[in-house]
Amino acid sequence: MQLIPFDNRTGFISMNGKIIKWNKAQIHVLNHGMHYGSCVFEGIRVYNSKIFKLSEHTNRLFKSARLLDLEIKFKKDEVKKQTLEIVEKQKIINGYIRPVVWRGSEMMAISSKNSSTNIAIAAWSWPSYFSPEKILEGIKMVTSQWKRPSPESAPTDSKAAGLYMICSLSKHKAEKKGYDDAMMLDYRGFIAEATGANIFFLKNKEIFTPIPDCFLNGITRQTVIKLAIKLGIKVNQQYLKPSFIKGCDEAFLTGTAVEITPIKSIDNYVFKSREISKKLIQEFKKKTTK
Ligand code: PMP
Repeated sequence: MQLIPFDNRTGFISMNGKIIKWNKAQIHVLNHGMHYGSCVFEGIRVYNSKIFKLSEHTNRLFKSARLLDLEIKFKKDEVKKQTLEIVEKQKIINGYIRPVVWRGSEMMAISSKNSSTNIAIAAWSWPSYFSPEKILEGIKMVTSQWKRPSPESAPTDSKAAGLYMICSLSKHKAEKKGYDDAMMLDYRGFIAEATGANIFFLKNKEIFTPIPDCFLNGITRQTVIKLAIKLGIKVNQQYLKPSFIKGCDEAFLTGTAVEITPIKSIDNYVFKSREISKKLIQEFKKKTTK
């Protein structure tokens, strides 16, 4: 599949409240967001022309911005409206939305309080490429050398671009070694999450998932927990040591991009079953296509 580079596509992007041509949505190279990491973003799905959990994602965008001391100059309802407008303008039926907020180019220094806070919202088509059978095969993961930092070291509750530095490093290294993704531990050595998704395990038909106290409590994670409870599955949120994996029957990732993706193996341990993952995928599909 030939991918068109993102800076060479046609269409429109919403930038600071105005819809402009895709190729005109540019920033200067001397940009605080890029140099100093004053940048937060969101990832949202569109299913059958409907935006999934728009309010939740917009709330998180504002929370992330606040945690990075960035003041979005629009109200939440205005940002939601801009998101709906760009999805319509781009004629998205099944796709992905990427809102991004960053500090501008007025000053080039660590302190840049008087610089502008900008917002852009891009949306593009992103149909599902994998068949359900292919998804059920699962992905191969490896433990990363990088650890999720403590909430005392970084604003871990935000979807801040800077927090993805160690995610990209982990994922690149995993892919180089022939894996699909990396599992990250936290600063205490407990299992945290994947590089862009939350992680779940199944043992004796009960769900176990880490407590999100130093990484994102994903919107998909919260949806899947509710679906599991509705199906009568017990959900345990607890600190999990890496040794917990041994003896687990199933494991899967949750996230806006990965939806629910079963894990085939982590390091040398292979998960044999897909029984409950399959049920949750079916229930999640019902929720997103209704
Ligand atoms: N953790 C990380 C690091 C992520 O990038 C994501 C994707 N936003 C998630 C978890 C899952 O969050 P959500 O389900 O809200 O997409």
